[in-house]
Amino acid sequence: MVRGYAGKFLEVDLSSGGIKDVTFSDDILRNFVGGRGLATKILWDRLGSRWEEIDPLGPENIFLVLTGPLTGIYPGSRVCVSGKSPQSNGIIGSTLSGEFGNELKCAGYDGIIATGKAEKPVYLFITDDNAEIRSAEHVWGKEAPETIRTLTKEGLELLKRAGRGAEKIKEPAMIYCGPAGESRVRTAAVMQKISHAAGYGGYGAVMGSKNLKAIVVKGRKPLPSVTSPETVKILLREVERQLLERDRLRRWGTGYGGYEVGARQSSEPVRNWQEEWHDEKRFGGPKFDFRYWVKRYWSDFNCPVACMKVAVVKTGPYKGAITDDPDYEMQAYLGPNLGIFDPDKCIYLSALIDYLGFSGINGGNTLAFAAELYQRGILTKEDLGFELNWGDVEAFERLARMIVKREGIGDILAEGTYRAALKISEMKGVDVTKYAVHVKGVEVGAHGTRSGLDFNPIAYACSPQCGDHTSGVYDAYNDARIVFFDSAVVCSMCGSPLIWDFYKAVTGWDLTDADWCRVLGRRIMHIQRAVLLLGGPDIFWRPEIHDDNPPRFYEPLPSGPYKGKTTDRKTFEDMRKQYYEAIGWDERGIPKSSVLRELGLEDVDKALDKVRKQ
Ligand code: SF4
Repeated sequence: MVRGYAGKFLEVDLSSGGIKDVTFSDDILRNFVGGRGLATKILWDRLGSRWEEIDPLGPENIFLVLTGPLTGIYPGSRVCVSGKSPQSNGIIGSTLSGEFGNELKCAGYDGIIATGKAEKPVYLFITDDNAEIRSAEHVWGKEAPETIRTLTKEGLELLKRAGRGAEKIKEPAMIYCGPAGESRVRTAAVMQKISHAAGYGGYGAVMGSKNLKAIVVKGRKPLPSVTSPETVKILLREVERQLLERDRLRRWGTGYGGYEVGARQSSEPVRNWQEEWHDEKRFGGPKFDFRYWVKRYWSDFNCPVACMKVAVVKTGPYKGAITDDPDYEMQAYLGPNLGIFDPDKCIYLSALIDYLGFSGINGGNTLAFAAELYQRGILTKEDLGFELNWGDVEAFERLARMIVKREGIGDILAEGTYRAALKISEMKGVDVTKYAVHVKGVEVGAHGTRSGLDFNPIAYACSPQCGDHTSGVYDAYNDARIVFFDSAVVCSMCGSPLIWDFYKAVTGWDLTDADWCRVLGRRIMHIQRAVLLLGGPDIFWRPEIHDDNPPRFYEPLPSGPYKGKTTDRKTFEDMRKQYYEAIGWDERGIPKSSVLRELGLEDVDKALDKVRKQ
């Protein structure tokens, strides 16, 4: 067995209740590693031949929860969820932090492959080399706190009954979907703990579509053995030393960007990206520390960076609202982008969005899109049932709950910003797609391209993960490195040049940065590109149209120190052309046959013939 891996994956057919162990060859693991990489391999092999027909929210889709060989061993472990994305219709590897990945490996599994659809709501309970499907009817419809409380208690009781000394052990780890996922809201996240989310991809909706409320796991075995324990120890000390130097991230978390990105870089969404600048000093690390943080250093397993913080509103009408940090993206999307400049309200809304199981970024984007339509008189009080003015936290709460229940206009907005824009355009007879800030159905991260100080013009437009800010592209070589973090399944904020030595000390396999960036990582990105172009069943993307920024990114910035600046169309087109050439795509953005064959992807090449003929 390859070191670093538990050695088997759990496959669950939710339709039949069948549970079995599956394995992958050393060759597959060596080439695709785990997490995002292995997800592309599994999904392509099983669904690739009829990709366009697969409904991401139908029983044929596959929900994947995958670790990697470095999960639990390298600092900053995560778990990667994937499947055919109900947002992009492609494949997105979406990672979330917490202990789930470690627990799963300690239970003897490297990942979970869930197929089919359960007749009634269920959850999976996994312990050492064992799994069972249990009823989740009593937690269906429940928000995060009650789901966690109930299933944790139940898990501990089950462990106790099995004589596993539950009184001496920590609670099991779990991932779950909230009410948003149950209602198949395309911006629903897969959640861990009370506030950790895998937000991109819409995989909370995939869980909901399978009637899979949660996966609860407790492993009592040691983590898998490594090839060179002594070398791992030495490398671990050095990587930890390097990570401890990331003072700013440890001290202030990513929430520091709440002021920095808005005021200095002029690149933060404000009122649905109509502006990208604010000078609100109440946002950002120092103010949050003073007023809200009750826990200043909170870390994922084995991570010395400890970038997370626990924020609580201590007084006033939002007293008791609790969230982590809130991190930069949540601050931006549930703050200034909704016209909210009061951190009390931002924390309250962040907590609510987590409890309902939305992605803060994607869900916040849709709420702001609706508010702009209201501002412009396209959506009215009659459409909504209430007024939806910027900064009105109660109105945004009301709308979020309507989306979760798919009530009235909420049913349309539950389809995510782009699909909702298409429907509202039809309904109102006016084109509102120009107000939808997304790339290929994925709402973009909270970093703009107009000031020229943050993301580059092609970062989202050419990314296989579309609007995902953690996977922006630039030069077709270095872009592949992030794919390694998502495949080894560790936190990308814990990067170190020693990661390749680490990988070798764990698995025994030699892998250089160049091997990964030229071949292995590139291969994974090409499979992702191919399925994005195959798309379907409801929307098909065409690179000449859709490898682009949202229209708003070409409007001049209306305020701030970079007023008048915009994404230059010519620069964008030149960069896109260069990117296509560098990565090996033709002038239309379709991967070239010669490149796919060099990467050993003959079947992918064949499948793309139909796209080439269009
Ligand atoms: S850097 Fe932050 S998010 Fe990443 S593993 Fe460490 S504590 Fe978690």
